[in-house]
Amino acid sequence: MNIILLGPPGAGKGTQAGFLVEERGMVQLSTGDMLREAKASRSEMGKRVAAIMDAGELVTDEIVIGLIREKLQTTKASGVIFDGFPRTLKQADALGELLTEMGQSLDKVIELRVDDVALVDRIVGRAEAAIAAGEKPRADDNAESFKTRLMEYYKQTSPLIGYYYAKGLYSRIDGMASMDEVKASLAERLDS
Ligand code: ADP
Repeated sequence: MNIILLGPPGAGKGTQAGFLVEERGMVQLSTGDMLREAKASRSEMGKRVAAIMDAGELVTDEIVIGLIREKLQTTKASGVIFDGFPRTLKQADALGELLTEMGQSLDKVIELRVDDVALVDRIVGRAEAAIAAGEKPRADDNAESFKTRLMEYYKQTSPLIGYYYAKGLYSRIDGMASMDEVKASLAERLDS
């Protein structure tokens, strides 16, 4: 089963994907993680995307589609969770083509529905928790970049709701419930 977790930054996609990896042996493909790795390795591409990511803007479709193509070709998984990808209609089309080429398909697209005001608190909380733990918070976990990330979500990513609804793949769950409740609704959705 291949699924997409959809939702604005801070909705909890990464957390829930982590549970699915642990409990179902699925494979999480997070373009955010891949790009942060590239950034940390200071590769040519990493250097090119660093400032864009820190500002909360979207990296070009070509770069992320390239990353996903490469990963999919080396992933032998019983199921993939796409987390943070696709983020644009172009990426969604590309994903459909890639999966078709591989003889695979997309099974479900599940949106974690959340309240925007609460998101800001979550992101600020995430940065504070990192600092308290002696870690460096993500460079884009600040109010200014977060506003840009949220805006990008509404401008570029939210049209995917209609796109996947039309394909009969879309459903949503309440992402404002507790972590365990979200986990339970997600499990139910995957098993139905
Ligand atoms: P968030 O917590 O905001 O959902 P991610 O960890 O998924 O963030 O991504 C962090 C940043 O990486 C994004 O703000 C963007 O700059 C870049 N990025 C990640 N995935 C994509 C994508 N599919 N297309 C374009 N840019 C992306």
